[in-house]
Amino acid sequence: MHELGVARNILEIVQQSVPEDRFASVKWIRIRIGRLSGVVPDSLEFCFSALLSETKMQQAGLIMENEPIVSLCKDCGHQFTVEDFAFTCPSCNSANLELLSGRELEIVDIELADD
Ligand SMILES: [Zn+2]
Repeated sequence: MHELGVARNILEIVQQSVPEDRFASVKWIRIRIGRLSGVVPDSLEFCFSALLSETKMQQAGLIMENEPIVSLCKDCGHQFTVEDFAFTCPSCNSANLELLSGRELEIVDIELADD
């Protein structure tokens, strides 16, 4: 399952970023998921909590920010959010587009509780 691999990667990065004696203090892990990343948020959350339950971070929550798909039309310069995966420029109907965002899959922030 794709999401399980992604969840493992996120957990590895968190474990490398936070000192081991602070694992139990991790409150929130905030990630950004582009709509083109191919990740199903519900499925990712499920895999991630399953992995967390085997660590000292089982109390941590996952906050997911969904990043819209933003394109730039190379013909008329119009910048727009792609809805329903319709990859044509709403202004001039061109399909000559550059993808500006939507593929992100990254950790934005890790929040620890105060001691
Ligand atoms: Zn255009």
